[in-house]
Amino acid sequence: MSIDKKIEQLIRDDVRAISAYPVPDSQGLLKLDAMENPYTWPEELKRIWLEKLRDVPINRYPDADARRLKMKLAANFGIPDDQALILGNGSDEIIQFVILALARPGAVVLAPEPTFVMYRNLAQAARIDFVGVPLNRDDFSLDTDAMLAAVEKHKPAVIFLARPNNPTGNLFDEEGVLQIIEAAPGLVVVDEAYHAFARETFLPRIADHDHLLVMRTLSKQGLAGLRLGFLAGRPEWIHEFDKLRLPYNIGSLTQASVEFILDHVDVLNDQATLIRQEREVLTADLRELDGVGVWPSAANFILIRTETRSGPEVFEALKEKGVLVKNLHGADPSLANCLRVTVSTPEENQTFLEALKAVL
Ligand code: PMP
Repeated sequence: MSIDKKIEQLIRDDVRAISAYPVPDSQGLLKLDAMENPYTWPEELKRIWLEKLRDVPINRYPDADARRLKMKLAANFGIPDDQALILGNGSDEIIQFVILALARPGAVVLAPEPTFVMYRNLAQAARIDFVGVPLNRDDFSLDTDAMLAAVEKHKPAVIFLARPNNPTGNLFDEEGVLQIIEAAPGLVVVDEAYHAFARETFLPRIADHDHLLVMRTLSKQGLAGLRLGFLAGRPEWIHEFDKLRLPYNIGSLTQASVEFILDHVDVLNDQATLIRQEREVLTADLRELDGVGVWPSAANFILIRTETRSGPEVFEALKEKGVLVKNLHGADPSLANCLRVTVSTPEENQTFLEALKAVL
């Protein structure tokens, strides 16, 4: 039998029908597509870090429970004492095991849309329904009434709320989120991937709602290459999710590196402050341009809409000029001609602006 026939016979129809998560080749391009932090660490800090890594016993499996790292994370991020943490190889992996644990027949995952695509993709991979509730069209704010109606109708096993939201960059209104939490019959995960740039959190509120969990990642703060995310919530939930976490999912180099940088967390926080400042500068500069609409952002990226040329055209023309942003045209009806650009260093932001001006 040909391999094509075997694939047809063996691989799930729904898997054959989808594409892998697209990661474009960024070689030689100014990479402003993935919300990475452009800054690295001071040389002296790097030297001490590398010294630490010398002694990491990579012939042994890592600490499967990452106990020391969890203690440090809890202390650093102010996780209340009676709450537990579970770590993921990026927060992507956390979304995956939360959904897997809830994937009973008929279970529904719900989120406003447009939002982070992995909520939908991973629900589909687990073969459960995903319900997307459109955000308000003009400013991408939460349509609280529509959300509450959908919660009532679908009784979702979990609601994901990215705060700030990706790709729109805005921070959903606190009151609306609270209403949704109160109405939710299942779990609510508030995804605070961009917390460092918004500095607003629902973390203290997990003590008030036993079905609320808060997720963070270190990816946007300069550690995207290490892959570390965490979920905080009641130990009873974490205990169940832990059964689906692959053993040793956090490598020893990641554990040692994150433990190290948490002892020097000012470095990361100072970088986030710089990026927040640059976000305001870049937003103001973009607003000066004719031919683009700009949404305010509480994250480390900015959503824009091209008005005089099509979004895909501008995306391609920017790439020709060596600048890679994210093309969102086609991702959702509300994102027609939209591009998302990561806030970078003043120099790189300027390069992007000049390229955009030339293209427009
Ligand atoms: N949540 C949101 C809202 C995101 O935008 C992203 C990354 N794009 C993630 C989670 C996943 O990040 P990571 O897997 O790197 O932790």
